[in-house]
Amino acid sequence: MRILVLSDVHANLTALEAVLADAGEVDEAWCLGDLVGYGPDPNECIQRIRSLPNLICLIGNHDTAANGNLALAAFNDDAHRSLLWHKETLSQENLAFLTGLPSEVVRRGDVSLAHGSPRDPIWEYVMNASTARINLGFFSTPWCFVGHSHMQVIFQHRAEQDNMEVIMPSVGDRYKLTARAILNPGSVGQPRDRDPRAAYALFHPEMQVWEPRRVEYDIRAVQKRILEARLPARHAERLAGGW
Ligand code: ZN
Repeated sequence: MRILVLSDVHANLTALEAVLADAGEVDEAWCLGDLVGYGPDPNECIQRIRSLPNLICLIGNHDTAANGNLALAAFNDDAHRSLLWHKETLSQENLAFLTGLPSEVVRRGDVSLAHGSPRDPIWEYVMNASTARINLGFFSTPWCFVGHSHMQVIFQHRAEQDNMEVIMPSVGDRYKLTARAILNPGSVGQPRDRDPRAAYALFHPEMQVWEPRRVEYDIRAVQKRILEARLPARHAERLAGGW
């Protein structure tokens, strides 16, 4: 069984299509939220994600803001401007889809799923070993998959020292999961770990293997659409540097 794990698509259809082509056929798709915000293709991305097989999809902080359930003042100026545009651009049907997405931790077999963290599923960023260690206390499954930070990273528990090892995965490596861990597939549509390629992961539950992947896509085409839509230029620039 192959499960596609993706997060933070952020309305970047070109990156999403590249990821889906690279992943090939999958049995299930687990999307950890932030379908919209920043990019130029919110409706197209939602449609595409809705078409994935056996989809589980969580709501992210940007999705929550776009559907009007979170004050836009919580976002910085550029993100705020972008969210206003998304709010106006989204179809009623797609807004309703976002509104129906779960905002709490979802459990599936041995895995808990959250957008931010199991402690605070919408907002908390798991960016370092100490935050990851604290969050071990907030889920009971062996593994938790999170998004939100836009970093492709693995936090793995070292039982003897009772701390977390931080692993920045290498492309092409497969990680056999043994200890408890918090794993982030990275961001499809706006990576922030200085690698501009779209990030995602495949999870093989029977083998308990996590396979982080990166895929190139036509960044210039997306930058062009961002500028044409008069979305903040900064959101176009950052795609090329992965920040
Ligand atoms: Zn995000």
